[in-house]
Parts: sequence; structure tokens; C-alpha cells
Amino acid sequence: MTSEIQRLNVHLASAQPSATYRMMDRVAAKRATGAKVISLSAGEPDFDTPPHVCEAAIGAIRAGHTRYTQVAGLRALREAVAEKFNRENGLDVRWQDTIVCSGGKQVIYNALAATLNGGDEVIVPAPYWVSYPEMAQLCGATPVVVPCGADVGFKLTPDALSKAISPRTRWLILNSPSNPTGAVYQRDELAGLAEVLLAHPNVLVLSDDIYEHLTFDGAEFFTLAQVEPRLKDRTLTMNGVSKAYAMTGWRIGFGTGPAWLLEAMEKLQGQQTSGASSISQHAALAALQGPQDFIRESKEVFQARRNMMVELLDSTPGLSCTMPGGAFYAFASCEDLLGKTTPAGTLLRTDEDVALALLEEANVAVVHGSAFGLGPYIRFAYALDNDSLRQACEAIREFCLSLK
Ligand code: PLP
Repeated sequence: MTSEIQRLNVHLASAQPSATYRMMDRVAAKRATGAKVISLSAGEPDFDTPPHVCEAAIGAIRAGHTRYTQVAGLRALREAVAEKFNRENGLDVRWQDTIVCSGGKQVIYNALAATLNGGDEVIVPAPYWVSYPEMAQLCGATPVVVPCGADVGFKLTPDALSKAISPRTRWLILNSPSNPTGAVYQRDELAGLAEVLLAHPNVLVLSDDIYEHLTFDGAEFFTLAQVEPRLKDRTLTMNGVSKAYAMTGWRIGFGTGPAWLLEAMEKLQGQQTSGASSISQHAALAALQGPQDFIRESKEVFQARRNMMVELLDSTPGLSCTMPGGAFYAFASCEDLLGKTTPAGTLLRTDEDVALALLEEANVAVVHGSAFGLGPYIRFAYALDNDSLRQACEAIREFCLSLK
């Protein structure tokens, strides 16, 4: 029995720890036993942060930029963020219309925490990034999960959106390119969703664009407020440097949205972190203002890896994988593996069983689709060098062939 002193916040007590971090812990534990595990579970680029960004951070330390900054971020960085939203997304924003937080994750959390009350609903299309429903719940709201299967390209349709909206809907969360599926919304698909949203003026929209720069085959990236400017005054467009510039550890994300929302987020942040790290902000400034070759180069590398991964996975007996349009994830159905037994005698009942058996018996770490709200699937993150990816696919293939 839990003693009174250990009584947690009621919303936190029912929250789930992130499935991705749980798998990372399992990998660490397995590696500690001496096993050579190839991890396709982490959601971060395997590249180093570009040298000029690191130099800018070192320069910031040497120049004494080591104090608190303005809560909403350094003015110079906010100007660069506004310039980014204008240049790349055609959003027409001023620096005052932006906020800088400790990672894209905190932009989302701040926005939800600043606006949600008990009884509010947050529409989350599934498969979803693991944190959306948990964050909504932590803020006392109810996530309304809308299943979006392979038949609709893992994307929310106007019809499904329309059915999910209720008088209690406070937010819709959109994520393109998607973690975990890599699905990318086309302009006309966003326009279709926008049409539904225009009829529901009390619904806020969070557009999580963190994988913006990873769209493949020459596909153009679109964000909702750009496709339908009439939604701009109730859309929070979120982005950051984590995935675009291989800066996950620097913890810088940013957003633009209506003034009242940004003010509320700033108020919250002022009582919470006081703002993002000054040194990381200088690094992010260098990333946004410096040469952008890194983005083009990493996109080419990821596209080549995607092609290889999808071919290898889709030709593996028991797996079936469609071609994702972006991000660095392949989302493969493992339905045909269910009901089979592994050489160690484990019956595979669910996609989680498959993921755990792959770790135990093939030394490959992946995350099961159900953790993202849609099973039976497996998410394979291909943010690894080609040799490791090939080895992992070979081990997965042998594992699948060994099932009875
Ligand atoms: N949104 C999605 C869809 C993500 O996959 C992630 C990170 O994995 C984030 C947001 C958070 O990014 P950041 O590292 O900037 O907090």
C-alpha cells in the first residue's frame, strides 16, 4: 500500500511512462549484460550537431552569455524564428508572435497546460506521438483518439475529424511528417481538414512540424496555418531544432500562434523554467541563421536509408511495410507474425510481444505500434548507419524465419 507521503498528483499517478524511453532503458539493461543490441527505437538523428552551431555555443559561453534570458527567448532568436516561419512557411509573423521553450515538447506542454481544464477534450489522430495523449491527461483533459489506419494512409480525414469534434473539443493535434508512421499531409488534405475546422470556431489546432525538413521524393511541406490563413488566429505552429539540425540534447523548440496564447504560455514558463538555456539559444540562433546545407544533406541520407529499410522490411516474411513520405520511421504491420512461437518458446500474441522477443532473441530494439495507439505494428527508427541497419534487418529476417 502506498503511504500518504507518496501521494502523487492524481493526473500524474495515472500517466504512462513513455514507451520509447522504456525501450531505451531495456536496451541499456541488455547492453549492460554484454549483449550487442542494435537499437532502432530512438527518435533522434544519429548525426553530430553541425560544427558551426557548437562553435556558436562555445562562443556564447566565452562571451559571458550565461545569464537568464527573457522568458519567451532572446530577441535575436525570436527574430530568427519569425524569419524562419516567414521564409519557409509563408506565415507572416513578427518576432513578438513567437516563443522559445526548452524543446518542442515544452512548447506543446505549455500550450496544453495553459489552456486545458477538466472536461476538455483533445483530438489525437492515431497512430500518434506517445506524448500527446499523456500530456492532455496530465493537464486534466480527455484525449479523444481517432484511429487512422493504413487504408487512409495513417492520416486524419475530414469525415473522421468532423465526427470526433464535440462541444467539449478544445484542441486538435496534427503532426506531419508523422512520428511514428512518416505520413505527410498534402496541401489538399490539410485544406479538407481546414474546411471542417472553419465550421468549429472554438477548436484550437496544434501543428507539430518538428519533422518539417524530412519530406522525401521532392514532396513539398505544408503547415495548416499556411494552407488556411483564416485558422492562423487559433493555430499554434510548433517546430524546433532537434530533428532538423541534430540538436536533440540542446532542448530548443519554438512556436507561433495568437498573442493571448503565447502570453499565457510565457506566464506559465516564467513560473516554471524561466526560459530555455541561454547557451542553447545562441546555438539555435546559429543553426537558423547559418548555412542550411546540413538540412539538405541529412534529408538525402535519410531518404536513401528509408528506401533500403522499406525494401528489406517489406520483403521479410511476416512483415509488410508501405513507403513513408517523411521523418525517419518505417511503420510495418506485424499481423502475420501473431500466433507464432519463437525458438525460445514465446507465443507472440501482440505487437508488444513481437517487440520484446526481437530484443530478447534477435538483439534488435524497436517500439510496438500499440504504444502509438495502433497495432499490430512495429516502428523501426532508421537513424543509424547503413551497416547497422542492414545487420538489424538481417537479424529481424532470421528471427521471422525461425518462428513456428
Ligand atoms: N513532436 C514529435 C512528433 C516528436 O517525435 C518529438 C520528439 O521525438 C517532439 C515533438 C519533441 O521534440 P523536442 O526534442 O524538440 O522536444
